[in-house]
Amino acid sequence: MEYSIMARLNPDTIYPYICEDDRDNDDYTTFYLKALTLIEYRECEELYSDFHSIGGFGLRSLKYGLKGWDNFTYENGEVIPFDFKNISAIPYKNQLELYGEIMKISEPDEELVNELKFVAKWSSVMDKLDENKLKQWDCVEYCSQKKGLQKSRNCEGNGTYICKYCKDDVPDNNDVCEECGKKKGLVFKYRFSDQADDYITRCPVGILTSRSLKLTNIVNYIDNSKSLPFNKGAMEQTYFYYMARSIVLSEQNSILKKEMDQMKKDSEKGRRK
Ligand SMILES: [Zn+2]
Ligand SMILES: [Zn+2]
Repeated sequence: MEYSIMARLNPDTIYPYICEDDRDNDDYTTFYLKALTLIEYRECEELYSDFHSIGGFGLRSLKYGLKGWDNFTYENGEVIPFDFKNISAIPYKNQLELYGEIMKISEPDEELVNELKFVAKWSSVMDKLDENKLKQWDCVEYCSQKKGLQKSRNCEGNGTYICKYCKDDVPDNNDVCEECGKKKGLVFKYRFSDQADDYITRCPVGILTSRSLKLTNIVNYIDNSKSLPFNKGAMEQTYFYYMARSIVLSEQNSILKKEMDQMKKDSEKGRRK
């Protein structure tokens, strides 16, 4: 399930969840989950590092993350009241599934982490562009208006490679040509630095997703306003918010540091001349 950014930042959000093997049943059980707060997450982590027990981590996560259930009964129809003491009534397989879901809402996934890092990177490029150049990177207003540009910048991400040897080859995402068997070339390449793999093969603005932009903006906004997005103290915020914030800020810092190092190097070079 996809969850909205604001919901995931709020430590009070409750997520209804139905286990996979129960979804086709008419009398399915609904579980109510919440994301772990920073303090809860740390506690689970400590448990894991002390005893190296994934079971302990999982059970503790369920203790904090499982907030209720509806229509949960024994085989004979007897209702099981919600209480953590009754956790063993949930089949182990479903316990694992619930634990997985609690982690999913508590932690940013790898894709989002990469997106957040990319937003920071692209923002620092944009900061240095003048207004005219900036306009040329407006994917909606520019790429799609200029004939062929959307294709040559691979805005949609579905035409990354093109064969240099076969005429009228249509770009797609296979890097080997089906026609001649040769390795295909990139349609679009945008370099950020001279580091070997520091480039993208798709229009940078096409890559930016609304969720990563929104999250980055929220983090920056909160960081400037010095107030937290929701009530309660810093440790009671969701681990998701804490992680997203540290990714955004550390990425921004490391970009800034790289740029300052480069400036220092350049000015030393200039002095030597
Ligand atoms: Zn574009
Ligand atoms: Zn070919």
